[in-house]
Amino acid sequence: SEEKSLNFLEEIIEEDLKSGKYQSIVTRFPPEPNGYLHIGHAKSICLNFGLSLKYGGYTNLRFDDTNPTTEETEYVESIKEDVKWLGFQWKHELYASDYFEKLYGFAVKLIEKGLAYVDDLSAEEIASLKGTPTEGGKDSPFRNRSIEENLQLFNDMRAGKYKDGEKVLRAKIDMQNPNMHMRDPIMYRIKHAHHHRTGDNWCIYPMYDFAHGQSDSIENITHSLCTLEFIPHRELYDWFIENLEIFPSHQYEFARGNISYTVMSKRKLLQLVQERHVESWDDPRMPTISALRRRGYTPEAIRDFCDRIGIAKRENLIDVGLLEFCVREHLNKIALRRMVVFDPLKIVITNYEEKMGEVEMLKGEDNPEDPNSDSREIPFSKELFIEREDFMENPPKKYFRLFPGSMVRLKYAYIIRCDEVIKDESGNVIELRCTYFPESKSGSDTSGINVKGTLHWVSATNNITAEVRLYDRLFKVENPAAEEGDFKSYINPDSLQVVQTVYAEPALKNAAINERYQFLRKGYFTLDNKDTYHRLVFNRTVTLKDAWAK
Ligand code: ATP
Ligand code: MG
Ligand code: MG
Repeated sequence: SEEKSLNFLEEIIEEDLKSGKYQSIVTRFPPEPNGYLHIGHAKSICLNFGLSLKYGGYTNLRFDDTNPTTEETEYVESIKEDVKWLGFQWKHELYASDYFEKLYGFAVKLIEKGLAYVDDLSAEEIASLKGTPTEGGKDSPFRNRSIEENLQLFNDMRAGKYKDGEKVLRAKIDMQNPNMHMRDPIMYRIKHAHHHRTGDNWCIYPMYDFAHGQSDSIENITHSLCTLEFIPHRELYDWFIENLEIFPSHQYEFARGNISYTVMSKRKLLQLVQERHVESWDDPRMPTISALRRRGYTPEAIRDFCDRIGIAKRENLIDVGLLEFCVREHLNKIALRRMVVFDPLKIVITNYEEKMGEVEMLKGEDNPEDPNSDSREIPFSKELFIEREDFMENPPKKYFRLFPGSMVRLKYAYIIRCDEVIKDESGNVIELRCTYFPESKSGSDTSGINVKGTLHWVSATNNITAEVRLYDRLFKVENPAAEEGDFKSYINPDSLQVVQTVYAEPALKNAAINERYQFLRKGYFTLDNKDTYHRLVFNRTVTLKDAWAK
């Protein structure tokens, strides 16, 4: 059997297992709870959980909640829901904030080793002494405080003796290091702010660089995976671990997943919500996991997408068409087929006799792709609706739909011929009079008539109504974040089209939130999980690539 070639992380892990460096691996997914997860996070989730499933070991869900001002419990809950929905189970649910005491201890240890100091300079002064990548920096006048003084001052910082910004704790490394991150980076800053978990216990908070690697180490993470922008942080990650003499987690970097026609940074997504460009974080036009779920995407499709894009060491923009392809592939296999007319044109079958109290029920397979699928019954009647766009009075050549004198098949039903066009006073077509051929019934057609077009339809007297929401791309340009000016000026004003009333076959009365539907020739749809209560609201997940019988 042909094996898929290994990606660079799998190669590293296989080597580490072969050499006996590790017996099994431990990874983590470390979201900051400052927004909802998006499709880029799904890539990181699939990668981290996928590797521990493949190689044995486990994955932790760790909330990287060291910044009290941007984080909220609402986000924590949504993140857990999304990871579970994607199909993954974490071993431990952990919070970097649970390590605050330990991290404080680590800082004290570095002070005691003469490797950290309290600095009184302001943020601006620190920045101005940092130098440039080509020019060395300058030492802070507070760099050579004694260990005792540093211990006392750091203790006072924690005790709340100082205001925000008055002091910081810095690592004492090297102000000449070519890597700017090694020029005495800040480890702690003072922030008198309420934290979503630790409340008012702390007024000093660790910086990302002094929390992330140490948290990895506390959890015995073997392979700590992050995105490319953290490459220059790796040297510092290693420096802290080495000097603290703690478990040697290692950081590896891979390229972010970026998708065309959307934005992915949580800060930008938050702006779209706050400024009401979209309705909410789970507005089906958003690239968030909750929005994709609401729109009808399946976890299988998202995992397949992440698998196909793989991992790279260079940033690129992935065509949103690939994501749509993946969901189409899956929905084609699982979606129940149903007929829904969006813009009805009435047809009357003049030679069809309805018997009192009797309805002719036709059989329609639920899913021709699934041999185990059921079928449903569809009522036929003398008066039917077809799609207005499936009729043309003066069609061009090779038009296989309905026009005066032409014949088409009604899906699951009969062949009909259009005999007469009825118009109102202003000349609008309001009705078609047709003949049907009783011996042409689908499944038992002995008519010998050949037609090229097949149309979907619903009974005009036996149907249910619903609302449908059709979505287009949220942005007009491929990469809005890379365009000049405000990314919001590239929003597509036509990204949502609502059709208030469509006519559906009665089987859709029992539609369920978790079910997926293919509305024949219209696309894949799912019930909206928020707005469906007194009426049915369907979201279009994606269009069909090939509409049959066009
Ligand atoms: P954003 O810029 O969207 O706020 P972030 O990296 O700040 O993203 P985190 O909550 O810190 O968001 O991300 C959690 C994990 O997911 C991190 O390991 C991060 O590297 C990864 N991640 C975030 N965005 C992407 C992406 N677009 N592609 C792949 N991985 C990502
Ligand atoms: Mg982050
Ligand atoms: Mg962020």
